[in-house]
Amino acid sequence: MRRARLFIILLLSFSATAQSPSPARVNGQRIHDHLKELSRFGANPQGGVSRVAYSEADLQGRQYAIGLMKAAGLDVHIDFAGNIVGTRAGSDASLKPLLLGSHIDSVPMGGNYDGDVGSLSAIEVAQILKEKQIALRHPLEVIIFQNEEGGTVGSQALGEGLDEKHLNLVSNSGKTIREGTRIVGGDPDRLASARRQPGSIAGYFELHIEQGGTLEREKIDIGVVEGIVGILHSDVTIEGFANHAGTTPMDQRHDALLSAARFLEKVNQIVTGVPGRQVGTVGWIKVEPGAYNVIPGKVVLGLELRDLDEKKFVGLFEQIRAEAEQLGKLNQTRFNFTEPVISHPALTDKGFQKLIDSTAHSLGFSTKVMPSGAGHDAQEIARIGPVGMIFIPSIGGISHSPKEFSRPQDIENGANVLLQTVLAFDKGH
Ligand SMILES: [Zn+2]
Repeated sequence: MRRARLFIILLLSFSATAQSPSPARVNGQRIHDHLKELSRFGANPQGGVSRVAYSEADLQGRQYAIGLMKAAGLDVHIDFAGNIVGTRAGSDASLKPLLLGSHIDSVPMGGNYDGDVGSLSAIEVAQILKEKQIALRHPLEVIIFQNEEGGTVGSQALGEGLDEKHLNLVSNSGKTIREGTRIVGGDPDRLASARRQPGSIAGYFELHIEQGGTLEREKIDIGVVEGIVGILHSDVTIEGFANHAGTTPMDQRHDALLSAARFLEKVNQIVTGVPGRQVGTVGWIKVEPGAYNVIPGKVVLGLELRDLDEKKFVGLFEQIRAEAEQLGKLNQTRFNFTEPVISHPALTDKGFQKLIDSTAHSLGFSTKVMPSGAGHDAQEIARIGPVGMIFIPSIGGISHSPKEFSRPQDIENGANVLLQTVLAFDKGH
């Protein structure tokens, strides 16, 4: 009896070993050191970075990353869109490339983790493949996308493409995207050649900090991203009648700001009135004429809705618009909505979600499937092939701030999930 039980235990432990992932692990200390080095370029006194795209600091950071990529055995070139691309040959030339990447540009007064963690971890994956002499069947490309914070510029150039309107936009550096693309080594006249055809890649994986507080709050190691939410914007104008604040009785006012206040409350009620993770915000407001002694005659405000499901946020918008009409009638004001501007949600691949989830579990990590409320390069690459995203906790949910922080252990965990996901993908596809 006892012997039989021992045998079963031995058998179980053997099969657990047989299923455990390849022993290759990233060097967490090295990623940490590289993050620290990179944070020197554009360092600000608050402890973060202002490494906006096309700035001197951005150029220096890019040079630093290129050095790391070369050391990791990658063949590095700048594509026509100004992205840094490091390639590594696969053993099966018939297979499409597997892409890893993120960005190293920051917002003004940004932190040291947004984009940097994913970029340096992707390079670390290449470094480990080199050190352990692991040959992948797929060609590998590590891409540092240019100007993510200015509107996912580099990744959009690969996917949907950039038009004149994009190229003429002025970036945070004060340079247009056209000028900036040239500065970082791209060629805005040959952008069409930078585009990748849908179906031309095997897949894309991006590791990123969550930039929200869910993982830390729930003490979860790894977020498996279901998709990047879509966004709807509309400018709402409320027309009332500006009149003397002293002589107009309360029952005879057409106070546009009072309607706006009721509207804010209504937006919140409607957005929270149905189950789900949708969010709705009024983030700015303009009141005219704007004086103590004048009843506001006109208000313009910005309404934003986000969700993974476009039908859902469009439905909420219609509901808000209908309710606004009713609100306006209460004090004879008129609501007007501009035609909504929509950026569509980008879903990650279901198979990739499962792969990331099972890989994380095999490494002993807890996971949570979650949407990304922030935009990422992955949303652009989703136009040309299947994408997967791995999140790690952001302490306090703080991002786009010098106070942004992710623990070294969490970064190492995320990088190991990225490495093992690449190895598992390469075996199975
Ligand atoms: Zn980012």
